[in-house]
Amino acid sequence: MLLVEADGKALLRQYGIPVPAGEVVRDAAWSAPSAARVVKAQVTVGGRGKAGGVALCRNAAETQAALARILGSRIKGHAVHACLVEAPATGRECYLSILLDAGAGALRVTFFAEGGVEVESHALDATTSRLCAPDEASINAALAALTDDAAVRDVGAKLAKLFLAEELMLAEINPLFVGGAHAVAGAESHAVAGAESHAVAGDAKLVLDGNALHRQPGQEALLRANATLYPDALRKLDEGFDYVELDARGSIGLITTGAGLSMMLVDELTARGAHPINFLDIRTGQLRGSPARLIRVLEWLSEHPSLRVLFVNIFAGITDQREFAKLLAEALAAQPCGGVPVVARLVGNGSEEARAWLAAARPDIAIFEDLEPSIARVAEHAI
Ligand code: GDP
Ligand code: MN
Repeated sequence: MLLVEADGKALLRQYGIPVPAGEVVRDAAWSAPSAARVVKAQVTVGGRGKAGGVALCRNAAETQAALARILGSRIKGHAVHACLVEAPATGRECYLSILLDAGAGALRVTFFAEGGVEVESHALDATTSRLCAPDEASINAALAALTDDAAVRDVGAKLAKLFLAEELMLAEINPLFVGGAHAVAGAESHAVAGAESHAVAGDAKLVLDGNALHRQPGQEALLRANATLYPDALRKLDEGFDYVELDARGSIGLITTGAGLSMMLVDELTARGAHPINFLDIRTGQLRGSPARLIRVLEWLSEHPSLRVLFVNIFAGITDQREFAKLLAEALAAQPCGGVPVVARLVGNGSEEARAWLAAARPDIAIFEDLEPSIARVAEHAI
């Protein structure tokens, strides 16, 4: 998952990479300093500059106006609750990243001498990007083949340590300001010995591996300190399964298991113009006779006033569908989500008996064996 810039920069600083002096501001009435500042929306999405989430301000009045405009607005669908306000950095805008390239089975180190918001237009070739093994020496060698700038190499070496120790999927600094003069946070401790140029991270896009979180207590603390920004990751840590909110104003609540099957269902529904609220891989094998997990999911779904229908789709070879049907009935009795209609498709181990039992216990539930008619019924309620 992508960290907001302020959290990403906190990690960069921890590994000795220079970042501009700045602070997180949540209140538009904050008293801005008279000097120039950069105001940046703290949302977990890239391309903020083009979407109006970054403002270069020359004085206190402009900073205050930018805060008033950006705080409380939405950037690419993400509500802005906080801005990072920084001393502006200067210099050439370069691009530096380390990516876990799963397709290549290697890390990819990329450096462009010209970064900035148009970086997507740059081609990846031997002069800008190298694949390498996941160790510090290989990363440093890859970067050394792309640039001879000592300050960039120094940042790259620190970024390599960070990337490996924190088990990241992506560490991207764009822009990396090279060669300018900056007010740097904690500057005295980050001087680059012998370097002719200076480099400071103007932005930080660090993507954590959610599956490594249990080995990374520092990251967990970072996420918990800003819990409202990372609800899905914290939910997974606390509950042990995946529930991802897709559309807070959607109309369909999904009770599904299996990541691939759940994604397929989301695609099928979206292709018909329906709007699922969530993705869910509840892992029926871990329910262990308790409806607690199902009740939690129903509670989260019930918080959406736009919820119109619950769609249960369990296709499972091992899970005993008879047991699942009983847990579902218990969970719906405990949290009926305002009585919205329920459509259930159960296929697999014991599903014939399960459907018969559920039909008798809850005649109000529309029960199906096949996917197509169940989707059609859901669409009737949802669209
Ligand atoms: P992103 O669009 O979400 O990647 O946000 P960035 O933090 O990269 O900001 C977008 C653009 O704003 C950058 O590419 C820069 O051109 C500009 N920018 C951001 N911070 C600074 C700064 O400190 N100084 C200057 N001169 N420009 C900045
Ligand atoms: Mn950027």
